[in-house]
Amino acid sequence: MRLLIMGPPGAGKGTQAAFIARSLGIPHISTGDIFRANVTQGTQLGIEASRYMDAGEYVPDSVTNAMVRDRLSQDDCNPGFLLDGYPRTPEQVGELDAILHSDGHNLDTVIELTVEIDAVVARLVKRAQEQGRADDTEDVIRRRLELYADQTAPLLAIYRSRGILVQIDGLGDINDVTGRIFAVLGVEL
Ligand code: AMP
Repeated sequence: MRLLIMGPPGAGKGTQAAFIARSLGIPHISTGDIFRANVTQGTQLGIEASRYMDAGEYVPDSVTNAMVRDRLSQDDCNPGFLLDGYPRTPEQVGELDAILHSDGHNLDTVIELTVEIDAVVARLVKRAQEQGRADDTEDVIRRRLELYADQTAPLLAIYRSRGILVQIDGLGDINDVTGRIFAVLGVEL
């Protein structure tokens, strides 16, 4: 299964993605997690990415695309994967298509987690307090939501036109949301 999960920052993508990927036995590939791990380790990639992340901006496509291409070429992705937080721009959609098509593959399903923006802001503020993420200050949260609406939400139309987009209500109990996702994927809990 080659899956992608989309939705605004704070929609609960990471939590759901980790659970679904574990249940399906496929890797959960979160570009945000990979960037954060590089920041923690102080790698060159992390140093470059943190300049953008701390401001709530997107890391340049050239950097992000190269990282994802490398990650998807690893053997554990052969049975499939669940991408979380990528693609976020039209260029990234093109790159992902190119990576998959070169192996004769396609995305099977794109899951959009829908949430109300007020609920998302409340979640992000709470997460900032719990995890101390530098990209979760209020101004940065607002910028991240704005970027999502401007640059990333329009990508949903591309996947809708391909007939692979499913919308899932992301509000409510975490387990209920997982149940809704599994139901559309046809997976038994
Ligand atoms: P996330 O945890 O997915 O919200 O990502 C945290 C931050 O990492 C984002 O605000 C961006 O700065 C950066 N990032 C993650 N994924 C991407 C991507 N696909 N393209 C550009 N920047 C990204």
